[in-house]
Formats: sequence, structure tokens, C-alpha cells
Amino acid sequence: MGYDAKGLFIGGGWRAAAAGRFDDYNPSTGKVWASVPNAGRADAAAAIAAAQAAFPGWAATPYVQRAALLGKVAAILEARQQDFVQAAGPEIGGTFGKCMYETTVTPGVWRTAAATTFNSMGEVLPSAYDRGSMVVRSPLGVVSVISPWNFPLILSSRGVAFALAAGNTVVLKPSEESPVCGGLLFAEVFEEAGFPDGVVNVVTCGRDAVAELGDELVANPAVKGISFTGSTPVGKAIAGKAGSLLKKCCVELGGKDALIVLDDANVDHAVNAAAFGAFFHSGQICMAVERIIVARNLAEEFTEKLAAKAGTLKVGPTEDKANVIGPLINARQADRVETHISDALAKGAEARSGGTRDGLFIPPTVLSGVTPQMSVWRDETFGPVAPIIVADDEQAMVELANDTEYGLSAGIITDDRERGMRIAGKLETGMAHINDSPVNDEFHAPFGGTKDSGLGRHGGRWAIETFTETRWITSANGHRQYPF
Ligand code: NAD
Repeated sequence: MGYDAKGLFIGGGWRAAAAGRFDDYNPSTGKVWASVPNAGRADAAAAIAAAQAAFPGWAATPYVQRAALLGKVAAILEARQQDFVQAAGPEIGGTFGKCMYETTVTPGVWRTAAATTFNSMGEVLPSAYDRGSMVVRSPLGVVSVISPWNFPLILSSRGVAFALAAGNTVVLKPSEESPVCGGLLFAEVFEEAGFPDGVVNVVTCGRDAVAELGDELVANPAVKGISFTGSTPVGKAIAGKAGSLLKKCCVELGGKDALIVLDDANVDHAVNAAAFGAFFHSGQICMAVERIIVARNLAEEFTEKLAAKAGTLKVGPTEDKANVIGPLINARQADRVETHISDALAKGAEARSGGTRDGLFIPPTVLSGVTPQMSVWRDETFGPVAPIIVADDEQAMVELANDTEYGLSAGIITDDRERGMRIAGKLETGMAHINDSPVNDEFHAPFGGTKDSGLGRHGGRWAIETFTETRWITSANGHRQYPF
């Protein structure tokens, strides 16, 4: 076994799950890597009860103490970096470079969250009457954080750290594909940091149990806020349920991001931005470059160079540090990528590199001659595929970029930054990056999408808005005269 799970982390202690354990697979080898607690509805209810009991104390804890504990998590994550690196490779098929990147930046999530506790938590308003008038931000109470597997350290941290900073208590449920890196290793860190019992709890479960356990994490009356990161269909169902219960819910969902390569672009830079955006972590990133819209004058040179670069990227098991493209997370995901590629080829696209499959390994695939009728253009692929479409002018590029249900991020490659700004203003996305790939994150910036890519924002003060209730409080100076 690659990891010895201590149990669910509830109320500051470890306990066995009601339904025993489930298997956590290494996608590079197909072998079981760890045996992990398989929680059920009652376990989730116990974690929520522990979080609710801890809430009044945590909400009243001076912000400097909250910040100190968040800072301690950052320091422990740094000290235990290699534990996370050694787990993330086999657990989620992260290459060595990807694991080093994620473990290096994740402490920054916790430090940024700690810094937000020093910010103003309200405003003073003018009033037409003789009174003080203020806006205050109060914590919600218990927040459920449901995270995905692809960047489990950053995405579990993002939900938990800012919710805690704002004075909420938390139940974290990581993905069944990353219960260790996204949950149980964090529980060890929380225990070592010394959070008061119940302030942060971790429950893990397998795919069969997740619908029921997830329902508890949304519907339990003590839960006042939900932070969900994952696929659009599941996110919509969770947001719908939360909406019917009038609970605050932030959903960060799928994407179909465009990289626009304008006619004045530096082709080598555009190729590097496209290769990183489409192939990093085998394209299993919500902000991955899933569509490339390239100006006709550069199209052939760009396509040739991107295909040549794709051919140099080494594919294979993550145990070999030289590999930069690892496996897809599971067979369901590899099937989806393969279907998108074969649909495109059947409808007239050409594979300029890749286009094959070996188990869960799919080499970086560059497709030219793509049209909007192909599923690879329309549906989220979440794999190492770069579909290229050619456009004649700026207007057509913007229309193609916006021709999607999704709206997460975008990249615009041009040396004319004014032109880039003009195009960014017309894109229906939550984020846009000029002269860069769409794959971008800074933890103090507002992260999130429009359309089917989600609702609400993470990051910096926007995360504090997400995890607090806005309240208006007035204080009259003297006794008001009423009409009767
Ligand atoms: P997923 O929707 O299958 O799972 C996400 C989480 O939801 C997991 O913890 C899973 O166990 C849980 N879940 C599944 N069914 C549930 C249910 N019925 N009730 C409650 N919880 C449930 O997504 P995934 O495969 O883990 O992640 C990939 C998807 O996430 C992609 O679509 C990707 O674009 C998206 N994503 C979005 C962002 C973002 O910030 N916008 C970041 C990373 C990934």
C-alpha cells in the first residue's frame, strides 16, 4: 500500500467509516495504491455536527489567531512537500513536474487566506437619518467543500482556507480519485497545526456512496454554504439543490477555453502557450486550451510547429521523472478523449500528432481541419488534445470563441496589447489573459467562470464575499419620530 489511511477526520479525531474502505487506484499501473475509508451519510452528518459545535468558538476566535493557524498549515505543507509529491504521482497520475509545481504553490493559498483576515470586514455608509449605518460581513456557519481530483492540493485548499479565514467551520470531501492528496494528508496537516476540534473535518467515500453523502453535505440544515469544484452536470445538480434550500453556493465547473492567435502573434510564443495550455497534466485542467483559433496567415506554420513540439513530449508512467505526459485518470475519461478524437477524424479533421491510445495513455494530439460540428470543438474533452480552427478576421475569432456553453478563461496571443484588451472585453468568460495561455491562477485574484463554467468566485476578497453573509446594521442617535 502506498498510503496508510488513519480514518475519517471528525471532531479532531480519527474514526473508521461505517461502510469500511474502498480502493484507490494508481492510473499509471492500474494497481490498488491505497485503501481508503468509505464514509456514508451518517459519517457526513457526524462531521457536520462536529463542525457546527465548533462554529461559535471559531467565529469568535481573534483574526490574528485564525491567521496564525492558516500560516501554520502553509509551513507544514512546505515541510511535508515530499509526502504530497510522492502521493500525488501514483494517486492521480501527476508527473513529477506537475506534483512539484502544485506542492510549491499550495502553501500560497493558505498564506493568501491568512492575509485576508487583516482586511476590512465591512463598510460605513452615509445615512439620511441621524444614525450610524454600517455593512458587516459575518461567517455563514458550516461550509461543505467538495473538491475534484485534478489539482487536489490547490482546489481542496482554495475552498477550505478562505472559508476558515472568514470564520466558518468546514467539512471537506475530496474526490474518490484523490482522497489522500485532496483530503487525508490534509487532515494530518490540520491535526499537526492544532486547529480546535471540529473546526475542519475530512470525510472520504467511493463513487457508489457519493450521491447520498453529497446530498447530506448540501441538505443537512446545519450546512449554510457549499463550495463545489468539479464537472458541470454535477455542479448544476448541487447548485439546483442548494438553490431550492436557499443556501449560498459557489460552483466552479468545466471549461472549453479558447486560445486566440492573432495575425501579428509571435508564432513560437503562441506554440509554447498552446502546448502548455493543452498538454500540461495531459490537458486535465478546467482552464486547459481546448480550442485554438488561429489567424489564416499563421495557421500552417503554427500547426506544423505545435505538432513538432507535441512529438517531443515524453509520454509514460509518472514513476519515470522524464515523462511530461502521464496517464488519464481513469478508463471513463480515456474513453471520452478517444471518442472526441475519432469523431473529429471521421468528420474530416487530420491528426498532425498523436491520435492514438494505449490504455490510459494518450499522446499529445494536434488536430487540424476542425469544425464546430465536431464534439471535440463543443464538449469538454479534458485530455491532451489541441483542436485547431482557422479564422479570417478578429470578428470571426470572437464569434468562434464565444460559440460555446462554457465561459471560464481565454488566452489572446498578440503583441498589440490594445488589440488584446479590445478582444478580451468581448469574450464571454470570467477570466482572459493577453499574450498568455488561459491557464492562470493567482490566489488573491477573482477566479471563476460565466455561463456553464460556474457561479461565484474564489480567491482573495472575492472568496471572503463567497463565504460570508452581508449584513446591514444601523444605530440610531436618539429616538426616532414615528408617524403613529
Ligand atoms: P466530478 O464532478 O466528477 O467530481 C467533483 C467532485 O464532486 C468530487 O469530489 C466527486 O466525488 C463529487 N461528486 C460527484 N457526484 C456527486 C454528487 N452527486 N453529489 C456530491 N458530490 C458529488 O468532477 P471531476 O472529474 O472530479 O473533475 C473534473 C471536472 O472538474 C472537469 O469538468 C473540470 O473542468 C472541472 N474543474 C473545474 C475547476 C474550476 O475551478 N472551474 C477546477 C478543476 C476542475
